[in-house]
Amino acid sequence: MELPDDKKRYYHALKKGYEGERMFDRFLEQSLHNDCYVLNDLLLQHNNTTFQIDNLLIFSELVYPFEVKNFDGDYYYENEQIFSKSGLELVNPLNQLSKTESLLRKLLQSLNFPLPLSPKIVFINPEFTLYQAPLDKPFLFHSQLHRFFKQLNEQPSHLTEKHKWLANKLISLHISDYPVQQLPKYRYDELRKGIICENCSSFALEIVGQKCVCRECKHVEVVRDAILRSVWEYKLLFPDRVITTANIHEWCQIIESRRRIKRVLDENFEIVGSNRWISYK
Ligand SMILES: [Zn+2]
Repeated sequence: MELPDDKKRYYHALKKGYEGERMFDRFLEQSLHNDCYVLNDLLLQHNNTTFQIDNLLIFSELVYPFEVKNFDGDYYYENEQIFSKSGLELVNPLNQLSKTESLLRKLLQSLNFPLPLSPKIVFINPEFTLYQAPLDKPFLFHSQLHRFFKQLNEQPSHLTEKHKWLANKLISLHISDYPVQQLPKYRYDELRKGIICENCSSFALEIVGQKCVCRECKHVEVVRDAILRSVWEYKLLFPDRVITTANIHEWCQIIESRRRIKRVLDENFEIVGSNRWISYK
């Protein structure tokens, strides 16, 4: 659906942030070989204040909380703040990081595990430049990541049962049922119908035999899988609407034959009712 510009920017920023976190997760998987625990995406609480840690690395003598930023383009640093070149001030990642650091330190103390912390802000995007960046800030730029992790891998670290206990304790303290922040309101008739590309989310798909081909990114998906994916989206977006061949036919748009949709539904869902009143769950 069409979103107002401010919402579009907001969701775009969230998505970009999320993609940056995933990029760094993958980087850690590939680059980190030392004896350490890696905890991703922790939401913790101390003194009734919630704080989030993108990645936490527990080494035997040191703990690294990472805050990952996926900014791209030119920025500059001035008076403890980061501005985009157009002059727009960004939410200051240094404030975020020092809040995280102080709460995590207190939490570790309360668990009787006062390991020193070495917090870092990772700018994961290779297209990011920060002018006037001071030397004494805990920034890690994309161009420094390989060297930094090479050093981390060479640092002596021997985890013990106590570290395992700490890692498990932090996982148990993770708040997993945090309420979802305001979803946009939407109605069925407001939403554009059609299968979207699995790879690039474009609507520009065409059916070629058994395949769904994206005209934007050339991604190919088996039609049956594309229909199934759309049914799950439909279920997620509209838990109260019934799944019928006609509804899914309308939702998918580009599948001409209703029979094709019916076959996929028959094979993958439980049939409820009979004759003209069939639906699926
Ligand atoms: Zn595509």
